[in-house]
Amino acid sequence: MNDSKMVFHEQLIHCDLCGSLPNRHFRLITTLILRRWPGSKKCRLRICRDCGLVFVSPRLEESGYEHYYREVYYQDHNEEVMLQSARNHKRDIEDIIDWISKSLDSDGSRPNSMIDVGCGIGDFITLLGHHYSVEPVALELSHAAAEFARKEYGLHVMEVDLNKAFDLGARYDFVSAKAVLEHILSPSQFVTTLKGLLTEHGVLFLLVPDLRSIVWRFPRSALSRVFKPIHVYEFTKNTITQLLDKCGLEVIEIDANRGFSSSQKNIYVLAKIKSTKNVSVQTENWIRTVIYVWLGSVVAAVSSAIKKVVPTSFVRFLKIIKRKIVAGIMNKAS
Ligand SMILES: [Zn+2]
Repeated sequence: MNDSKMVFHEQLIHCDLCGSLPNRHFRLITTLILRRWPGSKKCRLRICRDCGLVFVSPRLEESGYEHYYREVYYQDHNEEVMLQSARNHKRDIEDIIDWISKSLDSDGSRPNSMIDVGCGIGDFITLLGHHYSVEPVALELSHAAAEFARKEYGLHVMEVDLNKAFDLGARYDFVSAKAVLEHILSPSQFVTTLKGLLTEHGVLFLLVPDLRSIVWRFPRSALSRVFKPIHVYEFTKNTITQLLDKCGLEVIEIDANRGFSSSQKNIYVLAKIKSTKNVSVQTENWIRTVIYVWLGSVVAAVSSAIKKVVPTSFVRFLKIIKRKIVAGIMNKAS
């Protein structure tokens, strides 16, 4: 199928977290889209001035995303690529399992049932299942990834469109969605669906890329590896906490700056169904996020330009200085 023949429309969206209209959304950053994409050639991110949530807007209509995931996103994912992916992410997976198990063990809770929503190739939930001697189940949109998870790990995978609300008629002690929420067109609907999968004392685990932990060490053109149209939302610790609160969940534990293998570090969060309705989450000043993203983009652009004209050893020295400056500024801001 020739993508250039397919025409999809884009439109400004409302904030999924607080419901604000587009006139409350400030232009944060625009990057070029380098991969084949059925929408416009630019990815525009805006930040909500009322709650600080960052998202792609204007955004391609839902059928455009469906087309992209069906026809393009998984086309290069043959078995060898997926095996390599499992090898590349082994250290990340071990870190996640270590973090989750430490938190659950300190709480004295041990899950007897587990579901991974958007399991990808299935390596994470299989290993966590082994850790707790539980046979997990999983949901996945991609047929290729689901088949791989069944064949490689013997995982029970149901193929479900995660952008639609679903009810499996079962409840689980542990529900996870790892690197899924940033792809979902309505995070609040999705998290509400996940809440519906939890037993009364069940625990939800989310992993999302952290907007405040971008690794600014690549050439400027690679900004498109961080800000891409399939990541329709970008989260900070504050906005993910607000989202969980809106959906009737409260944070048990949250940690940022986790992970090894990406240009963006991750936020890990464990949550449970709220015990009281009176807990209120403070909204962080949205300008802090703007400063971080703009400052980081300038640093990336300058280091890219310098790289072209000065020796590598001097670039290494500048990188160390840059890291110290950015870390110092962010420590003051937080
Ligand atoms: Zn908002």
